Amino acid sequence: MVIDCHVHLNKYHHEANAPTEVHLERLRDQMTKYNLEHVMVLTSYTVNPERPSVEQVAELINGDPRILLVEGIITQNDRPTDLHALEERLKTGRVRGLKIYPGYEHAYPSDRAFHDAYGLAAKYRVPVMMHTGDTYSAKAKIKYSHPINVDEVCVDYPDVNFVLCHLGNPWLRTTAEIIYKNHNAYTDISGLVLEEFEAKMEAWMKQQVGDLLLYSGEPDRILYGTDWPLVRMGPYLKFVDDLELDPEHKALLLRENAIRLFRIEGAATEPRAKRHNVEAPPTSSAENEPSPS
Ligand SMILES: [Zn+2]
Repeated sequence: MVIDCHVHLNKYHHEANAPTEVHLERLRDQMTKYNLEHVMVLTSYTVNPERPSVEQVAELINGDPRILLVEGIITQNDRPTDLHALEERLKTGRVRGLKIYPGYEHAYPSDRAFHDAYGLAAKYRVPVMMHTGDTYSAKAKIKYSHPINVDEVCVDYPDVNFVLCHLGNPWLRTTAEIIYKNHNAYTDISGLVLEEFEAKMEAWMKQQVGDLLLYSGEPDRILYGTDWPLVRMGPYLKFVDDLELDPEHKALLLRENAIRLFRIEGAATEPRAKRHNVEAPPTSSAENEPSPS
């Protein structure tokens, strides 16, 4: 079984006219086809006809325990995130993580605009995912999405787990260092291509992901995600197969790391041995306390 921690119900290109319900049905079909146990649906940094709000998505999901919600934080828009409403969604478990979009919102991860969201993430022990690396929109600014900026918030918010989405691509070496150094830094492998891999690109990416795993140590903080529907699910699972990980490490990447990080109920994992090269995480850290709720 596999957990895809990074999918969207936004409408891109050709699918733009179909209602969100249709996208959700397509997602459920994909889950069945590829044997996905859970998916995390990430909402956007803005709400418009192509990008449904967290309320809309929550209503459509309607408590389906296989589909979990990660709320995109909106700070630069005329309809910023209502933090009280967000707290309610965290309290009830409707929202299982937050997502910030520094490159798209032209704000560093350390910007005060995100401070209160980080406080809620610490209080409810949910991770903060963030877009890092190259951006999908030419209007975004990559100085804000460079993975080097995540070190600062990892240090300043030690009780929050941060996920550098997309491996910080193309700055995978920087991402390797961030997750090597900071016990509260994770990364996901989503969105490395659009649609599917071209052979040369796939070989290059495999090499780089191998290097990242080698440098950062045991793969206990790397997550499987696709960025569907921007990426096709079949080629992505094949990409992971081709990484030639040993079965234990493959299970961590495809499933168990996500279970620990998002505290997904009903799924037990073995406790992980502490790595030799990091300080012990604080006791409030989510990764120490697997799934009481
Ligand atoms: Zn994405």
